[in-house]
This record gives sequence, structure tokens and C-alpha cells, in this order.
Amino acid sequence: MFAVFRLLAVLLVAFLAASAAAQQRGDLTDDVDRYAAAIFDRIQPRSIADDREFCGYIGVNGTGKLAATGPKRGRRDSCEPDEPPEDFEILASYHTHGAYTQEADTEVPSLEDLAGDIEEGIDGYIATPGGRLWLNDARLRRAFLLCGPGCVKRDRRFRECRAYPPGHEYTLRSLQRRAENDTGEC
Ligand SMILES: [Zn+2]
Repeated sequence: MFAVFRLLAVLLVAFLAASAAAQQRGDLTDDVDRYAAAIFDRIQPRSIADDREFCGYIGVNGTGKLAATGPKRGRRDSCEPDEPPEDFEILASYHTHGAYTQEADTEVPSLEDLAGDIEEGIDGYIATPGGRLWLNDARLRRAFLLCGPGCVKRDRRFRECRAYPPGHEYTLRSLQRRAENDTGEC
């Protein structure tokens, strides 16, 4: 009985931790999450000014330290990171979503973003024009909002789409549903 109670308590704590996950920069407890946020702060201004995606990998370099490749300048809605050096152990990819536009639903990872990360088996960090920080977890096959608008540097022209606000967590199916139900109205 006690064991069951303890299991429930552990599950409850895990649930609360997951649902309280972040929303604010100061709530990021994971080193790699914080490292990703710092990279985005550096590259968001250029990504927004040029309206191009920038991308690369986060990993551990030959001396055992957290490091990043790139940023490589991609296109308006895609970016393919260069192959990292051989002694670079990949932990995740990262990419930005360029400048704010009302025309595209860029505050969430795209279906292709999540599908690609799952297929490659590599987690992916994404920064949006509104400064949201997302993590696509390849193993859990889900996208998680790590922290909310303004978490990393954002486009000053950004306006939240009140008619179609982004959620906190997506699967392939719910991202697909979101794309299908998007009327483009904000
Ligand atoms: Zn993307």
C-alpha cells in the first residue's frame, strides 16, 4: 500500500514538474536548454532582420564541452545544417523561424520539423519570431514548449495570434490537425 502511495506521489510530482515546465527563461533548469536559449539570443536578431532560418547542431566537442556548429544561413522556411566535425557528439539540432509574418503559423514547430527530428532520432530546438523556445523530443515523438513568448530575443513587430494561439505540447497528429484547422485568421 505504501509503495503504491509512493508511486502515485512520484507520478504526481513528475506531472506537476512537466506541466509547470518553464514558460519563463529563469525556469530552464537543463544545461542544454539554457545553452540553446543563449545561442538563439545571439542569432535571432540576424534571422529576423534577414527573414531567413539559421541552423546548426548543439553537442559535445572534442574537449568534452558543450558546443555548437554554425549558424548556417538557410532559406525562408528551411535550413539544413552542415555536417559537424568528427569529434563532435550531436545532442540536438537547432533552428530559427525567421521574421514575424501573419501569413504562416511559425510560433509552433512545423509538422516537417517534428517528423524530420523523429526520423533522424535527433532532438531539435526551435526559436520562433515571438521568442518561444520549443524542443522536439525525438524519442517521445513530441514537441514541448520549453518557454513562452519573449523567452529568447523576438521580432519587435511580433503580435500574438489571439484567434489561433499555440498550445504547449504537440504530437505529429496534433500538429497535423493544427495545420488543417488553420484558417489563417488572427
Ligand atoms: Zn521549423
